[in-house]
Amino acid sequence: MEKQMKMPKTLYGMKPNEIMGALGLEKAFQGKQVYEWLIRGVTQFTEMTNLPKPLRERLQTQMPSLTSSEVLDTQIDETGATKLAIQLHDGAVVECVLLIDRDGRKTACLSSQVGCAMGCSFCRTGTMGLVRDLKAFEIIEQFVHLCRIAPDTSHIVFMGMGEPLANFSEVIQAITYIHDKDGFDIGLRRITISTCGLIPGIEKLAELNLPVRLAVSLITADNNQRTELMPINKAYPLDALKPALIHYQNVIGKRFTLEYVLLRDYNTSAQSAQKLANFIRGLDVIVNLIPWNPAAELDWETPTNREIAIFTRELDALGVPYTRRYSRGRGVNGACGQLAVEHTTERGL
Ligand code: SF4
Repeated sequence: MEKQMKMPKTLYGMKPNEIMGALGLEKAFQGKQVYEWLIRGVTQFTEMTNLPKPLRERLQTQMPSLTSSEVLDTQIDETGATKLAIQLHDGAVVECVLLIDRDGRKTACLSSQVGCAMGCSFCRTGTMGLVRDLKAFEIIEQFVHLCRIAPDTSHIVFMGMGEPLANFSEVIQAITYIHDKDGFDIGLRRITISTCGLIPGIEKLAELNLPVRLAVSLITADNNQRTELMPINKAYPLDALKPALIHYQNVIGKRFTLEYVLLRDYNTSAQSAQKLANFIRGLDVIVNLIPWNPAAELDWETPTNREIAIFTRELDALGVPYTRRYSRGRGVNGACGQLAVEHTTERGL
């Protein structure tokens, strides 16, 4: 007979033997069975049909929800991008987004923090300030909620709310869990960590030598402009960021991405293109051009197509490798830099 015990908030993030202990299971293989159901997105113990019925019923009564969080709101735009507002166990709310490429590839855009301390002036999340870091299980659960909508989600980007490298160990724990080949089995090369340029975090990532993809929000290669846009640039200016990126590149040996949000009449001039060309010299990078996604409370504007075309012609002439990202998720305020929640609600634990 299984022991009566205090149930955990969630089973996500636990290995089979930990699940066995947490649920007071008597047989080790039952921990594995529960783990496998969790990965398949089952939401109730009663659906775990290979467990004995009395055990299922006991667990269902003791732990009616398998996740510590719940979906409060779902919004879908015309591209199929789906934004979820997720309420956490303490009442805080985070957002995550399912993005669908033109070729049908599904990517989960996850948050690593509630809000963000970095205060980038072009980003809605930056207006919230930092509420708190997310625990690994809270990051994993975002992926679980999105996989319930799209079980074939194959890629992950940490480009939601928060600076992932400022919550390093929880993000790495979540990645390790999601990567587990007996679990979700998402390849590390399909996971992208985006950072505003937190050098100690980039160094720690190099130390781990984890072959995830890195995306660095450069936004401008003009140091004064960057300080104006991104407070992080005061602590880690471009002349410190570049050697850190060269070191990272030498260790990891893989091409990485520089994110360049295009801001109307600000970072799209011929001089901006030249500075960008100078900055990437010696770096094996591709520049991802992202026309700014509007956010009502911010003063920036999206460049016109003509302005973008002139800028990309300059980049072509300078031999800067770039891609132009077509924004997905704008229709639900779920595109890059648009995530923010206005309030957190009490849920009473
Ligand atoms: S761009 Fe990223 S790091 Fe900057 S405020 Fe927004 S979420 Fe934070």
